[in-house]
Amino acid sequence: MRLTRYFLPVLKETPADAQIASHRLMLRAGMVKQQAAGIYSWLPLGWKVLKNIERIVHEEQQRAGHIPMLMPTVQPGELWQESGRDNSYGPEMLRITDRQGRKMLYGPTNEEMITDIFRSHVSSYKELPLTLYHIQWKFRDEIRPRFGVMRGREFYMKDGYNFDLTKDDALHAYNRHLVSYLRTYERMGLQAIPMRADGGPIGGDYTHEFLVLAETGESEVFYDSAVTDLTFGDREIDYDDVAQCQSILDEFTTRYARTDETHDEALFGQVPEERRRSARGIEVGQIFYFGTKYSEPMGAHVQGPDGKPVPVHMGSHGIGVSRLVGAIIEASHDENGIIWPEGVTPFHCGIVNLKQGDAEADGACEGLYDGLTALGLEPLYDDRDERAGAKFATMDLIGLPWRITVGPRGLKNGVVELTSRRTGESEELPPEAALEKVA
Ligand code: ATP
Ligand code: MG
Ligand code: MG
Ligand code: MG
Repeated sequence: MRLTRYFLPVLKETPADAQIASHRLMLRAGMVKQQAAGIYSWLPLGWKVLKNIERIVHEEQQRAGHIPMLMPTVQPGELWQESGRDNSYGPEMLRITDRQGRKMLYGPTNEEMITDIFRSHVSSYKELPLTLYHIQWKFRDEIRPRFGVMRGREFYMKDGYNFDLTKDDALHAYNRHLVSYLRTYERMGLQAIPMRADGGPIGGDYTHEFLVLAETGESEVFYDSAVTDLTFGDREIDYDDVAQCQSILDEFTTRYARTDETHDEALFGQVPEERRRSARGIEVGQIFYFGTKYSEPMGAHVQGPDGKPVPVHMGSHGIGVSRLVGAIIEASHDENGIIWPEGVTPFHCGIVNLKQGDAEADGACEGLYDGLTALGLEPLYDDRDERAGAKFATMDLIGLPWRITVGPRGLKNGVVELTSRRTGESEELPPEAALEKVA
């Protein structure tokens, strides 16, 4: 992409109403525009990042054997009357009445709808296990939308639902989700720690939230610092292997790590004092086993091996796709702007032409552009007729991992300058060598 043909409305001023770095940087970098409280347009740069995150989520869910689909944003109210949540969900739900006077709502989550789909089409245990998921916009009328896309009213979420014959099978689905989430967040350059969370009115031990540590996080968390040493890495996973998934869950959840809702001072006191940490975190996902909470009232039964109908065991599992854009920036920025991890960056490499219109500099930039494209990478070429300082500031703000700077002086010696956004280190090298490094 050439900057002169792109739409990148960067702001010079720091927006006054944005309280945290990620919100400020997303506005300044022209990634989003607020349309109403907690409702955003995703401008081209922000959209690219959102799609990269979405792609990673899809890949990892499908790797785990979960099946993608798509449910609508608008739901009929009756389904929520069946489950009993119509009353209990409260004012976070955006209720709509259509022209026929029917009660509708903009979905805040999809347990009811997926249960309805399941009961319409599945009748035998032989069709289990089954995990369906979608990535779709949600609406929750948050009392205090804030921090940009981190607490929006409209937000993009992956939500998946498992259907199993027994509790044990459903717990394997739970473990599978935990493992796939660990992989997912790591691919985005994030450390998201699974923490024991509150089971809510259903109770039970089977829910974990995934938290990214950040001072601006809305959750208070307590943990054994040893959990921050754990990394998933590139281990091979067989998602059908019950023991392997269980052992990974044990590895990542045995040490103390809890949100304030489940925090237990006495247990925390057993962690060696030098490893006790309290901090703040951003909730980027949650997994939940809830048994027959929906299948029972909504009649989602299957015929078991003995021919008798039984309600299926279910769980739901969410990832805050749009919140992740903000969370990644919170975790990875400096005073000059965003620093994208390679996995989600909107472009792989910036090209800065120090002397636009100079035949040699223009030619070298075009060569690099084609070279990067041939490598399957997406470059962003700043081909504006602008001062070098302004071009550097834009590149730093939008945070691409690499910048190649091309000017007549370097070209005389056959070199360009390659700069890493993360380390700030630059080196001069021939254009072909720069391409090799970026690839
Ligand atoms: P929170 O505690 O932040 O309100 P939640 O526990 O209500 O989140 P879940 O129902 O667990 O949210 O939804 C799954 C994921 O969706 C969350 O882990 C979070 O990453 C994301 N999410 C929830 N609410 C919002 C929101 N208002 N804006 C952006 N993302 C959200
Ligand atoms: Mg909430
Ligand atoms: Mg929560
Ligand atoms: Mg949650």
